Amino acid sequence: MRVLISGAGLAGPCLAHGLRQHGHDVRLFERDAAIDARAQGYRIHINGDGDAALREWLPAEAYEQAVATSCMAGGGVRMAGPDLREFIEIELPPDAAGITVDRLTLRRIMLRDLMDSTRFGAGFSRYELLDDGTVRVFLTDGSTAEGDLLVAADGVNSGVRRQLLPDFPVTVLDSQLIYGRTPLTDQARKLTPPPALEGFLGVGSTDGRRLALAAQRFRRNPADFGLPPADDYVMWGVTAPADVCGPGFFELGAAELLELAAQTIADWAPSLSELVRLGDLDHLMPASVQTSERPESWSPVPVTLLGDAAHPMAPAGISAGVAIHDAGLLASRLVSGAPLLDAVRSYETDMLDYGFAAVATATRNHAGNFQ
Ligand SMILES: Cc1cc2nc3c(=O)[nH]c(=O)nc-3n(C[C@H](O)[C@H](O)[C@H](O)COP(=O)(O)OP(=O)(O)OC[C@H]3O[C@@H](n4cnc5c(N)ncnc54)[C@H](O)[C@@H]3O)c2cc1C
Repeated sequence: MRVLISGAGLAGPCLAHGLRQHGHDVRLFERDAAIDARAQGYRIHINGDGDAALREWLPAEAYEQAVATSCMAGGGVRMAGPDLREFIEIELPPDAAGITVDRLTLRRIMLRDLMDSTRFGAGFSRYELLDDGTVRVFLTDGSTAEGDLLVAADGVNSGVRRQLLPDFPVTVLDSQLIYGRTPLTDQARKLTPPPALEGFLGVGSTDGRRLALAAQRFRRNPADFGLPPADDYVMWGVTAPADVCGPGFFELGAAELLELAAQTIADWAPSLSELVRLGDLDHLMPASVQTSERPESWSPVPVTLLGDAAHPMAPAGISAGVAIHDAGLLASRLVSGAPLLDAVRSYETDMLDYGFAAVATATRNHAGNFQ
């Protein structure tokens, strides 16, 4: 089978490995010009389902490297008010346990063996269903490719989804986010509340402002495995109602974003805005918060969706795990020997059930707390 995958983020490369191991011809198309073209080196928790899919579908050596370079064992999830007086431990469901990694490091590990079948700077533009039941994609570099199946792994704003399901209901919520990271120097370590050095800390006030804080402390440096070296850091995300961020939010430069993030929490415990002000200007990212509703069912075609492309959800620490779980499930259905469209339909039925249950959980968590 020839499978075309749009998007080499997290789910796309995992699916590619799964299919390649079973002898299928896989080609990945990535819009970014290079793996590190944008600041993407943030800490990410992958839940138990996602971790299980990585273990099952990555080559053993790649999974071992993902574990070896993952974050030191975490101290769970705690929440606090702006004065940091009390840290309340949150009891997590059993499926929350998984693996916490640096996203760029995991992508480097997954893509290292896929370079011969990955094309960077080749964004999806549109597809065409051909009379013989196959599909042709048109890419932004002017080239085309044909395959038996096209998989959208191109994230929340998926172009493939826009063509397949033009009425797919996505809602942009009324809060915005600034993601950043601060190198874990001695000074930053002193400013970081202890629960965020060991695990995840959510700080929030009743007016909708929130701060997510968690240190990425590599068990082993990626350099030990021939990858570019990486230093420990504290990842942070400042969320605020959209009117706090202002109308020109997405046009702000890095220094302005950093200042806005620090100002947003300036009346909280002073160590928090001090920590944010030490943020790395190369790793600032403005983001909107999106959620979605389950679409009406559609007739199966040789085009399908996974991950954030299939079920955009509010940040809640689960979407990456669900995306990678999708990749594993789709791989298992495609290698099962069932006719292609039956395999696709059976994957989509299950994926939509658990995917939109996860969207509902994420919306509840986003409204109610920060994890
Ligand atoms: C700072 C930050 C922290 C996060 N922390 C967590 C966390 O702790 N836990 C968690 O579960 N989730 C977390 N998330 C969310 C998580 O990153 C996503 O849910 C996850 O990456 C989704 O995987 P995916 O493969 O579906 O999409 P992505 O990883 O977003 O990959 C999509 C890929 O498609 C590419 N692409 C886009 N358009 C095109 C196109 N037209 N053609 C070709 N390629 C295209 C993109 O460049 C990208 O490489 C976090 C997100 C951010 C920004």
